[in-house]
Formats: sequence, structure tokens, C-alpha cells
Amino acid sequence: MTTRRRFIEIMPLAGAAFLAACGDKKAAVPQASAPEQAPAPTAAPPAPAAATEPAPASATAAGPLDEKSEKAVALGYVTEANRADGTKYKNYAAGQACSNCALFQGQSSDISGACPLFAGNSVAAKGWCSAYTKKLT
Ligand code: SF4
Repeated sequence: MTTRRRFIEIMPLAGAAFLAACGDKKAAVPQASAPEQAPAPTAAPPAPAAATEPAPASATAAGPLDEKSEKAVALGYVTEANRADGTKYKNYAAGQACSNCALFQGQSSDISGACPLFAGNSVAAKGWCSAYTKKLT
């Protein structure tokens, strides 16, 4: 019950963060077919004029999320959950972290992973934000 209620509470925030993330992408990539992409750690050698296939959005991680970025600050994201602002975010409880959040898309052993609220960046497994939702086991 608490999880559903919490999910409903965070949905407006999640939607706003998602839209903000999409807005950032548009600003960063003015042309949809621009060959300029963040370097992807692939085995293929870099080919300057061979950008024929756009990478899926989930694979375009631009690196770790900066907790000082506007979208991170909006959701109170910190790279170490124990630094979460418990005064401002009453929902924070010790033991919560991205690694045990339902939205974390990495493996439990990963040090970072994707989060749909911060598309294009990875979040720290030990991180936390106010949209934390306990992963169901
Ligand atoms: Fe994403 Fe971490 Fe926030 Fe969960 S706690 S929504 S994984 S940033």
C-alpha cells in the first residue's frame, strides 16, 4: 500500500524530470541527424563519417549525473544517500539508495546505472533522490 501511494506521489515529479531531461537533450542536439554524439565505449574503432545508425536513447549515457545540475537539484539527488537532505525530504530513510530503488536499471552489483528520471546520465548505486521508490522483491 505504501509503495503504491508513494508511486502516485512521485509521478508528477517523475514526469517533470523526464520532460526536463528530454528538453535538455533537444538543446544539446539541435539536429536530429547530427553525427555529433557522446563517445560510446564500444569495441568499434571511431569512424568520423560513419554515423549511420542512431544509438538508442538508453545507450547514450553522457556520464555520471552531476548532483549540482538543475535536474538533479530539483529532485534532491546526491551521489551518496547518507548525504540526502532528510530535513527537506522527509521520505528519506537510512538504507535507501539507488541500488534498491525500483527505478534503478543497473544490476545490484553495479556501481552506477541508468535511471529513467535522469535519461542520458547514470546515477550512483549509492545515490538517492526524492523520487526513491523501494524495489519490490
Ligand atoms: Fe533514480 Fe536513484 Fe532517484 Fe531511484 S533513487 S529514482 S534510481 S535517482
